[in-house]
Amino acid sequence: MSILDAMLDEPAVLPAPAVIELAGLTRSFPGDPPVVALHEADLRIEAGEYVSVIGPSGSGKSTLLHILGLLDRPSTGEYLLDGVPTGSAPESERSRLRGGRIGFVFQSFHLLPHRTVLDNVLLATLYAGVPRAERRERALAALARVHLGHRIDFLPTVLSGGERQRVAIARAVVASPQVLLADEPTGNLDSSNSAGVLDLFDELHADGLTLVVITHDPAVSARAQRRVRITDGTLTELA
Ligand code: ADP
Ligand code: MG
Repeated sequence: MSILDAMLDEPAVLPAPAVIELAGLTRSFPGDPPVVALHEADLRIEAGEYVSVIGPSGSGKSTLLHILGLLDRPSTGEYLLDGVPTGSAPESERSRLRGGRIGFVFQSFHLLPHRTVLDNVLLATLYAGVPRAERRERALAALARVHLGHRIDFLPTVLSGGERQRVAIARAVVASPQVLLADEPTGNLDSSNSAGVLDLFDELHADGLTLVVITHDPAVSARAQRRVRITDGTLTELA
């Protein structure tokens, strides 16, 4: 049998690419001396993992999140999202990837205060390119998923901080991203509201979503299945 026949006989099963793969990735900012905010980072995150990145202020957390979210580009090294090299991809391709594959959650919610909860989530379906006919149903399903089906007509201003963050999470997952990136998601919440958000992350993880949670809070970091520390721009896997 020829090699070709053998290959056709038994097709190679390619392993699924990691959702996130950083290879020797450095981000430095010009200055005298330059600031190396991220130093030769290697990081591989598989589909379905729940990873926290913990580090003190100034350690490079936001820099990492901006890179992972395709909001910033590495100085050197490569970032593959779902196997797609992004480092030198044109901005149009990066924004298409960002809209379709990444959900963001920030410390300060970023909801539109004069639009209802449902409208806030619907707007995200528009930007993510969800077909018009599916938008309302998808938004309602996302709000049900974060246990806010009873708040769809409320304005964010009358919700608790924890509820607002859950709206932001519904908005982040409504277009079925490959990965949810959260930057200090409990930073503006008291402990009971934080607990609600962390419980919700557990549920999303159990549903198979890939989560990357960036925090300075050991209690938040401890909830993840896998923990990474960042110190002066260097990543270290924690036991
Ligand atoms: P963290 O989010 O952990 O507080 P950052 O990623 O914001 O840390 O910052 C890491 C380092 O990079 C800090 O020393 C910060 O001053 C520097 N830095 C971040 N952004 C810039 C920038 N746009 N220009 C210059 N230095 C920056
Ligand atoms: Mg930061």
